[in-house]
Amino acid sequence: MDDTKCMVNLAKFYLGFTVDESCGKCTPCRIGTKRMLEILEKITEGNGETEDLEKLERLAKTIQKASVCGLGQTAPNPVLSTMKYFRDEYVAHIRDKKCPANECKALKAIQIDPEKCKGCGICKKNCPVNAITGEVKQPHKIDEDICIKCGTCVSKCPFKAIS
Ligand code: SF4
Ligand code: SF4
Ligand code: SF4
Repeated sequence: MDDTKCMVNLAKFYLGFTVDESCGKCTPCRIGTKRMLEILEKITEGNGETEDLEKLERLAKTIQKASVCGLGQTAPNPVLSTMKYFRDEYVAHIRDKKCPANECKALKAIQIDPEKCKGCGICKKNCPVNAITGEVKQPHKIDEDICIKCGTCVSKCPFKAIS
């Protein structure tokens, strides 16, 4: 894994697995992991709040201590490890509404590089929500408030000016 891998998304992936595998005997494992997963989903969708980090830690420690078997006892580990070593990524998702690895779809920013844009207008014609503006032969712009991050313009631009 390198810096194109989002650590919050990674923790969510592993937690999703343990939620599916929990047999349901212990309440902290059965319900606590679901609550943790919901918080991670909220963060990766750009709706995280600062207090979510504390909630995650509290839930994780309770689940570790109060679960009967190894699955529940280790389920929170990916969350705790990533929070320990990549806390800045959690903070970027919550405070700046950005995914440093540019992996979380809801937080992806689609941008046109004005140096590469030739103003051909192909992206503008293909945008399903008319989020792109610009004059012929002039650098075009994307309105982030309108863009639904479908990625069409990225694949259509013949000059690879959109990323
Ligand atoms: S900790 Fe083990 S026994 Fe308890 S609910 Fe989870 S999987 Fe089942
Ligand atoms: S398709 Fe590419 S080169 Fe053409 S206007 Fe859009 S960003 Fe610029
Ligand atoms: S990503 Fe989709 S919605 Fe956003 S500007 Fe490009 S084509 Fe339009």
